[in-house]
Amino acid sequence: MDETARSKRPTRPATTLVHGGTMRSQFGETSEALFLTQGFVYDTAEAAEARFKGEEPGFVYSRYSNPTTRMFEERMIALEGAGDARATASGMAAVWSALQCQLKAGDHVVSARALFGSCRYVVETVLGRAGIASTFVDGRDLDAWRAAVRPETKVFFAETPTNPTLELVDIAGISQLARDVGARVVIDNVFATPLLQKPLELGADVVVYSATKHIDGQGRCLGGVVLSSQEWVDEFLADFFRHTGPSLSPFNAWTFLKGLETLPLRVAQQTRSAAALADRLAELPGIARVLYPGRDDHPDAALARRQMKGGSTLLAFELQGGKEAAFRFANALEVIKISNNLGDSKSLVTHPATTTHKNLAPEVRAELGISDGLLRLSVGLEDEDDLLDDVTFATKAAAR
Ligand SMILES: *Cc1c(COP(=O)(O)O)cnc(C)c1O
Repeated sequence: MDETARSKRPTRPATTLVHGGTMRSQFGETSEALFLTQGFVYDTAEAAEARFKGEEPGFVYSRYSNPTTRMFEERMIALEGAGDARATASGMAAVWSALQCQLKAGDHVVSARALFGSCRYVVETVLGRAGIASTFVDGRDLDAWRAAVRPETKVFFAETPTNPTLELVDIAGISQLARDVGARVVIDNVFATPLLQKPLELGADVVVYSATKHIDGQGRCLGGVVLSSQEWVDEFLADFFRHTGPSLSPFNAWTFLKGLETLPLRVAQQTRSAAALADRLAELPGIARVLYPGRDDHPDAALARRQMKGGSTLLAFELQGGKEAAFRFANALEVIKISNNLGDSKSLVTHPATTTHKNLAPEVRAELGISDGLLRLSVGLEDEDDLLDDVTFATKAAAR
């Protein structure tokens, strides 16, 4: 195997996403090879011994690492500017591993309260059962982060922009605070994508992705990835990952490698269409408010300009007329499909209050701004004018 994993001259993101991490076999294949193998054979018993001792490079077992999975990790490392990474079987496996591996009973986590439902469950319930306490704060309020810190606080956790209301957390702000108090920052960067926001450059210690979303980009495979410095991976993640086994399937890694090649094109197009849809919806009757980080009327528009390179491929909007109007709107859509996923080439609309966020208590939903009239829209790759027509027609249907 030709180990040209990291290119010598730095390349720009679009190039990195086509070539980064590629390792070619003796056949010199153009496209990345799919190594569907659990294990590896050794020429001699001495070679097996050396491999297990870590004295000789090479693969041992696909729960630890696999050539296709490693290519995906290396491509993500190059894109993110990280020191090392581990790819996981889902986004939630990435979130849980990133938190659990560096925490123990008695530690404390401060987390933004606006979280993907399963992330909240991991922090509150799974970590809670292991004796790791947590405090949830309004992620937009730096003073609230500061006030929640305890002597045993080890980790800050946030997602930005948040699901589903696209609120922003100031990554540089909480990272500075975390450094001052000796805590580490973990950012779930799914909504921003690795192209529109760089948490490690802003001071975060660990970045996690659900690769299920924009990285696949065509709604096929589940997966995730945890990225950080070499030191952090060596100290906390490497052995945890090796022995608990949240590993990504090589087949899914191969799908993500191909997904990454088109990520910049897709995110650019989807961001353009999302901005156009946000502007159109803001002008239509019956829409109470539009939440889009790229618009000047977004509550954190200045922060969005500072920490993001674009507005997002998602938007949220609230219909006057509550749940009934929101359902009439969703049911009238023809191009945009009703689904709970995001980052797909197909545009998808979600009613968070009755689906992704239905398990939250009504007061928590209210606190997070998830009203009964709120819809979240993940913008896909359809013709922008067809999408504009679809929402314009649905707004008329919702008003009836
Ligand atoms: C989807 C998602 C996850 C979980 O990812 P899976 O691949 O579904 O496990 C975590 N965080 C955010 C922000 C997500 O959107």
